Amino acid sequence: MTARVLVVDDIAANIKLLEARLMAEYFQVFTATNGPDALEICARGQCDIVLLDVMMPGMDGFEVCRKLKADPATMHIPVIMVTALDQPSDRVAGLEAGADDFLTKPVNDLAMLTRVKSLVRLKMVTDELRLRAESGKENGLDQLLLDNLTTKSSSRGKVLVVDDRVSSYERVVQTLSREHDVSVITDPQEALFAAAEDEFEVVVISTSLEGFDALRLCSQLRSLNRTRMLPILLLANPDEDAMLIRAIDMGVNDYVVRPVDQNELVARVRSQIKRSRYNDSLRDSVQQTMEMAIKDGLTGLNNRRYFDGHLSSAFEKAREGNRPLSLLIVDIDHFKQVNDTHGHDAGDDVLREFAGRISKIVRNLDMACRYGGEEFVLLMPDTDIQLACIVAERMRREIAAHPFVIHGGTKQINITVSVGASCIEGANDTSAALLKRADEALYLAKRNGRNQVVSDAA
Ligand code: GH3
Ligand code: MG
Ligand code: MG
Repeated sequence: MTARVLVVDDIAANIKLLEARLMAEYFQVFTATNGPDALEICARGQCDIVLLDVMMPGMDGFEVCRKLKADPATMHIPVIMVTALDQPSDRVAGLEAGADDFLTKPVNDLAMLTRVKSLVRLKMVTDELRLRAESGKENGLDQLLLDNLTTKSSSRGKVLVVDDRVSSYERVVQTLSREHDVSVITDPQEALFAAAEDEFEVVVISTSLEGFDALRLCSQLRSLNRTRMLPILLLANPDEDAMLIRAIDMGVNDYVVRPVDQNELVARVRSQIKRSRYNDSLRDSVQQTMEMAIKDGLTGLNNRRYFDGHLSSAFEKAREGNRPLSLLIVDIDHFKQVNDTHGHDAGDDVLREFAGRISKIVRNLDMACRYGGEEFVLLMPDTDIQLACIVAERMRREIAAHPFVIHGGTKQINITVSVGASCIEGANDTSAALLKRADEALYLAKRNGRNQVVSDAA
């Protein structure tokens, strides 16, 4: 794995030391000797992770970290605070400033490399999601992300502890229960099933399981789809450096060495949960904005923008396969009067219920969309005009036969629709002409008195 690491420290000798170790592992290293320079490098998007010294003249590390984490453009860049060993309160202050992790000076090689690798790996996931999110910017992705984050971030985490020594897991449970709901499972295979089935947010695994290799459980967790992204934190013994290196390479996120420092365990679990919630929120937000771009907000049906793209590809497909393709335009009759008589909200109720009813009528292959205000389009592959008219007539009857509920269920009104139907014809037909013929048929249906189906073949 390679990544761009920014080392920030006001003392040149400190920079040299970290730089040499990181370069030996083939990381690309950038350096800055003060806060403002560091912020500028991050703002230019030139680094994947920051190793940040706390004590610096002018802007100190906490302030740099707060600024990075407050800016939506840089908040996803992982920050590791480098604190003095004799200042344990700095670790807490660092995490409160939003840091993802901390290291103490003199920096231990294994600790640095594992933290850097693990955080960089998570950032790659984040980067991928952010890339997809770029197109969602104009749809308010940032706001959605913040909303999703705030609803999630305050709640207690769900932690699974896999440990078979009572004296060991009792302490862990006691330590973590203040902030999280903790479950203990002593049997590794049972733990694997539980992790796959329940919504745990982090799993803490002891490396001293009786007669079982903890790394095997880690690799099983990484290979299952449901647990691929589940953060793993190991409880290791002091002499297990070689094993930890393998663990981190296989995707274990973090570790704590026994005897467990309670504050450290709390901080590490908290930061794993925070990171994974950020990525979950980002993933949800991307999903939502992608849906918003193609869905109508009121009815949940596909919108016109989506339909226009879909129509041309469905048309091409029908052409190539020499298959029929039919299109219905469905327009609610005298809908303006619904608004005028019962109010705009009642009109919205009718549109929603209408969308629900036509969704039930169409097959999976068909596509229903809200084309405009009270105008809907149904596209039906492999459907000739006779069948299309049967579907249209069934829909017309169903709408007219059952009144629509408005005003929160206190009132019912009758609604009718007019439908124009068309089907692919001849070798020179186009998707635009198909749409136009359905529109003309609809116009005839309206002119002939509404509440009826007219096809272009008529
Ligand atoms: P026709 O039978 O000829 O189709 O008459 P109509 O009244 O249905 O058609 P017209 O095009 O005159 O009016 C459509 C109305 O639909 C006007 C507009 O205010 C209303 N409308 C459009 N979008 C919405 C919406 O999202 N909610 C509500 N409540 N009304 C809407
Ligand atoms: Mg310093
Ligand atoms: Mg209408």
